[in-house]
Amino acid sequence: MTLLFWIVRLLVLFLIIRFVVLMVRSALVAAGGGSDGPARGGTRVKRSERLGGTLVQDPQCGTYLPEDRAIALRVGGTTHHFCSTACRDAWQGSGGRVG
Ligand SMILES: [Zn+2]
Repeated sequence: MTLLFWIVRLLVLFLIIRFVVLMVRSALVAAGGGSDGPARGGTRVKRSERLGGTLVQDPQCGTYLPEDRAIALRVGGTTHHFCSTACRDAWQGSGGRVG
């Protein structure tokens, strides 16, 4: 009698936990979250593309701007992006140091 009682109790507990897990999971999907999970790769890049291009940082003034609007400067194998020619010239004049 006691054993049956415990089995029923465990079954109920298991069902409650399963229900809660399902609710949390569906809530996360509905909120558009879950993209940080390991199951979905590259969603973060897609999201920034949806906002209008990849954001790049100006190493001179630190401004973030869309890549297609930035002034690109290739140094060696690296492409740097600037918000204006003034920033690009100042950055080149300072010897290309970050900051
Ligand atoms: Zn700038």
